[in-house]
Amino acid sequence: MERTLVIAPGPTANGDLHLGHLAGPFLAADVCTRYARAAGRDVLFGTGVHFTQSYIVTTARRLGVEPEDLRIRSAGQVEETLTAVGIRPDGFVRFGDRYVKAVRTFFERLHSSGKLRLKGVQFPYAPRTGAYLTDAYVRGGCPVCLADGCAGLCENCGHWIASGDLIDPRSTLHPDEPVELREKQVLVLPLEDHRDALVAYFARQSATMRPRLAQMIEEILARPLPDYPITLPIAWGIPAPFPEVAGQVIYADAETIAWSMHCTALAAEHHGEVMSSEDELWFSETGNKVVYFFGSDAGFAFAVVGAAMLEALGGYTLPEHFVTNEFYELDHDKFSTSRGHVVSGRELAAEVPRDLIRFYLAVTSPDYQRTNFTREAMARVTDERLVQPWNRVVDKVGSWVGRGPLPVSERSRSAGARLVERFAAAYDVRRFNLTAAAFTLSEQLARLDRWEVRAADAGDFCHEVDLFLRCAAPLLIDLADTALPDRTIPAEPHATQFTPVRLPRLAGTGR
Ligand SMILES: [Zn+2]
Repeated sequence: MERTLVIAPGPTANGDLHLGHLAGPFLAADVCTRYARAAGRDVLFGTGVHFTQSYIVTTARRLGVEPEDLRIRSAGQVEETLTAVGIRPDGFVRFGDRYVKAVRTFFERLHSSGKLRLKGVQFPYAPRTGAYLTDAYVRGGCPVCLADGCAGLCENCGHWIASGDLIDPRSTLHPDEPVELREKQVLVLPLEDHRDALVAYFARQSATMRPRLAQMIEEILARPLPDYPITLPIAWGIPAPFPEVAGQVIYADAETIAWSMHCTALAAEHHGEVMSSEDELWFSETGNKVVYFFGSDAGFAFAVVGAAMLEALGGYTLPEHFVTNEFYELDHDKFSTSRGHVVSGRELAAEVPRDLIRFYLAVTSPDYQRTNFTREAMARVTDERLVQPWNRVVDKVGSWVGRGPLPVSERSRSAGARLVERFAAAYDVRRFNLTAAAFTLSEQLARLDRWEVRAADAGDFCHEVDLFLRCAAPLLIDLADTALPDRTIPAEPHATQFTPVRLPRLAGTGR
């Protein structure tokens, strides 16, 4: 059976996950995985934390802690938060010797493929400290969209910005320090060498890419593709094992594919499989399909550079789908770990049942555009669209409990098939859409709530409530755990009778 590898790339290990992370890739990847399993597919889900970005150093400096301590603490927080909201990956990437080895092995293979080049690249340089300023270490204007930000992936336009191309660069840690440009030889992957492969690949992807990623790819392919650095002349990172760039580190944002391969190997091992190498699940001949969930601003590193690296190496499967998301705002302001404007999933899950959190994050999921979170809206929407109608449905089912098997009509089997089909349309990976899943859930629940149940159709009603709950289970995990003996979603409902059982009620948000 073909296998789907679901990957939600790990956040930078410089803080806990905030609701914006959860409402974006992580809940989506978890729901997608749970649905695929219930529909009988073979799927592995991997995530974790990313430990080598320079943002860990700048955040640690601001907090007055050691970067090594910050990344370990953050990994623990991320894992706890995922658990608190019921996001259950099979594999979770932690920093350690095995990860370092996986990254070095990957780049040694890329290096020996002859596809990397040594090139003199201009970097902002601080003469006083002798530091080359890359990514989080340097701020300036984005030469593509003019927004102020760090080098690397622009949060605003999604383009990758070379440090030396920033407008008016200044040091993040020492903003008053003079900065000049200085050339340094680093290893690069010339993306232009892979243009034809990238054009053909993204033409195949275009039917399912969400608009913002599709636009960014169009813009990137319309101009010369950059020489993407593989090594950088900075101290924080995994030492590059190449003598021509002695003392340099692997560029953290170039680790995407090595990180992903490691993550899927961990996921398979979690189920008792023995991996002979980190990349085993990625060989083309396996027929495995890779599906990514990430914020649009990560598209360049994972989709463009990732595909180019896989093409350069050859023999690997290229990602099948990219499910991207936009920013999620808190009270109409940006969630920001570095600015301390966050609501952690753990804090919220301590106060609100997590099924309600999952439902509301899905209702407001930033699938296509920025969306907003407020506690007040969460309380009102979950109460009106989920808790109250569900509890009325529970009462109606309850009045038929103990009356033995009730007949189920052909009409109800057919309605059940339509219901399953509607949910599948939202959950299917090609058009995966959390908002649509939550909308389908509340529409179908409203239909069951309106149903005036009589003796003649009580079996139909209870049968359709059961199917509804199976389809809602990827979102409402605790309700499904209590109410369902198994999670199977039948493609074609075939029950001729149904024995109703007492169903659990949902508690509200407490507001
Ligand atoms: Zn930009």
